[in-house]
Amino acid sequence: MNKVLIIGAGGVSNVVVQKCASVPEVFGEIVLASRTVSKCDTIAERVKRRLNRTIITEKLDADNVSETVALIRKHQPNLVMNVALPYQDLNIMDACLEAGVDYLDTANYEPRDTAKFEYKWQWNYQDRYKNADIMALLGSGFDPGTTNVFCAYAQKHLFDEIHTVDIVDCNGGNHGKAFATNFNPEINIREVSARGRYYENGEWKSTDPLSVHQSFDFPGVGVREMYLMYHEEMESLSKNIKGVKRMRFWMTFGQEYLTHLRVLQDVGMTRIDEVEYNGQKIVPLQFLKAVLPDPGSLAKNYTGKTSIGCVIEGLKDGQFKRVFIYNICDHAETYKEVEAQAVSYTTGVPAMIGAKMMLSGKWKKTGVCNMEEFDPDPFMDDLKKYGLPWHVAEWNNSVK
Ligand code: NDP
Repeated sequence: MNKVLIIGAGGVSNVVVQKCASVPEVFGEIVLASRTVSKCDTIAERVKRRLNRTIITEKLDADNVSETVALIRKHQPNLVMNVALPYQDLNIMDACLEAGVDYLDTANYEPRDTAKFEYKWQWNYQDRYKNADIMALLGSGFDPGTTNVFCAYAQKHLFDEIHTVDIVDCNGGNHGKAFATNFNPEINIREVSARGRYYENGEWKSTDPLSVHQSFDFPGVGVREMYLMYHEEMESLSKNIKGVKRMRFWMTFGQEYLTHLRVLQDVGMTRIDEVEYNGQKIVPLQFLKAVLPDPGSLAKNYTGKTSIGCVIEGLKDGQFKRVFIYNICDHAETYKEVEAQAVSYTTGVPAMIGAKMMLSGKWKKTGVCNMEEFDPDPFMDDLKKYGLPWHVAEWNNSVK
């Protein structure tokens, strides 16, 4: 019987744990560990109430490698699922290496003191993971994650040559707050305020933060303004999607969100260096996180939908072709199912499916792997089965 250790007990974890618990034939036993054990207990109570399954909860500071190794040795899981924060990625990868167990996460490592999104730190584990005969699956969320699998599916079934990929991400929902982020505020604001970057003809080109934008008609949501940003999946996809000439990532933001963000930046509240306050050192962005709404708390009154996918252009049988592969997810529906908003849901479901691929042996390699390196078909089938139906449409409008 398979056992998983899930680390982190935030918004994404709430979905991952419930989704894993709903597939007992794959996830026979579940251990949930996090820094604040009461958050694990709240999720465990929800699982008991909704699914009548018992999960074990533990307290863990995953920044401490030996503590994590000890917990892995105590429970002997087949897989460790990291849905804590990107800062923990390398420490948890170290612990998995020492204990000899497979690893999965949903976001690439970030050093605390620089907002840098790169796979190089995690790809550096390639030889050590191969030598230890274990596997790490990186970025098994929606974007990264499902978007990588959409590209692999397009490469396998829809195109002979892929020329351009535009990943477009819209949260058309309304949580009723003047300003809030949909996942961990610190990670979200670091990502949004970073310089934009895209891939073109073998080079990375950089743009001022949120300076390039255009409108796009999102299925299920309507026309929204989307902004060019850097996103980590482009780093692996530009290597693994053969012959791709251009790859960009776009995310929508409302004017209200952007105005708040600009003011917060202008007054220094998004700084990630330490400042002296009342005789103690604080990081303004971490303080801001403490006063912003907890993303999980937005779920109850959230209305509207997310609409995320890949616009892909290329050639099939010598003819130009453009398709849009996408999913639409409704905040109110996900709340009804798992008491979560759609951003947590669209991340948590692919994390469960990625784990299921590994545990069932459908995705099996040694070393450090990205999602598009595997057969997309069983993953795409499971998206439909577990709550994220997807669509492929011939698409008339190019992304300018
Ligand atoms: P939350 O902030 O809601 O939850 C993070 C959890 O990790 C909290 O329970 C927190 O504990 C715990 N944690 C933090 N530090 C430690 C530590 N040192 N040891 C143990 N536990 C720790 O974040 P989300 O659920 O919104 O996001 C989870 C992950 O999902 C992030 O990495 C995020 O980047 C990623 N993500 C990926 C997406 C994708 O599509 N690929 C989309 C959205 C998110 P505590 O409560 O005590 O602080």
